[in-house]
Amino acid sequence: MNIQQTIIPLVFLALSAPLVADEHVITTSSHRLTEVANGVYLAQTTAPLFNSNSLIIVNEEDVVVVDSHLTPAKARDLIQSIKSVTTKPITTLINSHFHWDHAHGNQVFEDGVQIIGHEYTRMKLAGTPLEETQYVLATAGNKATLARIREMLTNASEEDRPEIQKWFDLYSQQAEDWKEIAPIPPDTTLNDRMTLFRGSREIQIHFFGRAHTGGDVTVYLPAEKLAFTGDMMLQGPSFLGDGYVDEWVQTLENLKGLAFETIVPGHGNPFTDRDLISHVQAYYADLWQKVAAMHEQGIPIADAARDIDMTNHAPTLGVRRKGVDPQAVGRIYARLDGAD
Ligand SMILES: [Zn+2]
Repeated sequence: MNIQQTIIPLVFLALSAPLVADEHVITTSSHRLTEVANGVYLAQTTAPLFNSNSLIIVNEEDVVVVDSHLTPAKARDLIQSIKSVTTKPITTLINSHFHWDHAHGNQVFEDGVQIIGHEYTRMKLAGTPLEETQYVLATAGNKATLARIREMLTNASEEDRPEIQKWFDLYSQQAEDWKEIAPIPPDTTLNDRMTLFRGSREIQIHFFGRAHTGGDVTVYLPAEKLAFTGDMMLQGPSFLGDGYVDEWVQTLENLKGLAFETIVPGHGNPFTDRDLISHVQAYYADLWQKVAAMHEQGIPIADAARDIDMTNHAPTLGVRRKGVDPQAVGRIYARLDGAD
């Protein structure tokens, strides 16, 4: 039995597949840091559990970090790992959006660290972030997984037991780490655009419109031609449960106005293929139409989610199975019914 595949949803494994090792990769006890431009590192945790990417921008005098991972413990590991590439102080943290897996490490950044995010991100994180659907579902999912592993442990052969125990320990630790979360919002907000000048480094922060959430920002380094897009642009369709699928196509069109050569997404590995943006736009436009047609006919969410066929996007995005996430359908139905 492949224990890892039994325990972890495959989608997360695919998203966290390691980059090919080369001389630009530094590995710490918790992280893999890949230098994606001069002094700019993509930080990914090496533990085989779901996490998000962070970007570390080392300037002449200071360090700017984008996204804080999913727990205070993971953020502390990140800060420790940054010390393996620089002794300069972290002065600024940027939140790409409010989702728990990108912003719930915020609290471990020191008092003097400025936290920047979109107005919407502040509104969400200053509200009741621990009651947000995605966070509630994630913690419930962790509990369910833990119960499943406990069950497996009871029935395990002597041979399988150590491997299953390892997963049990990982998920137990995660459940522990979650107890410490006390979200803090950005103390500095933008609505449209902001630029940081740090030494010779120019760091632009852009809001291109609503997409994965109501306040996704892209961090763009014009000299390095590099854009960190958070979950607004991954290497395929993003999670849509809080999304604005009807506006997202235009938001991605606006993103294309930047002269980037590399995109670092909020999950998964960097990519350079601009066509991928058009493929994802085509997917969202098509999904919106197909879901709207189901909505028009009054088809229940679960049935629509089962029946919608997006496999026409197999050649461009590798969509091989019929059906879509019910949360995506639910969200599109809600938008069609006038939800903000
Ligand atoms: Zn997200």
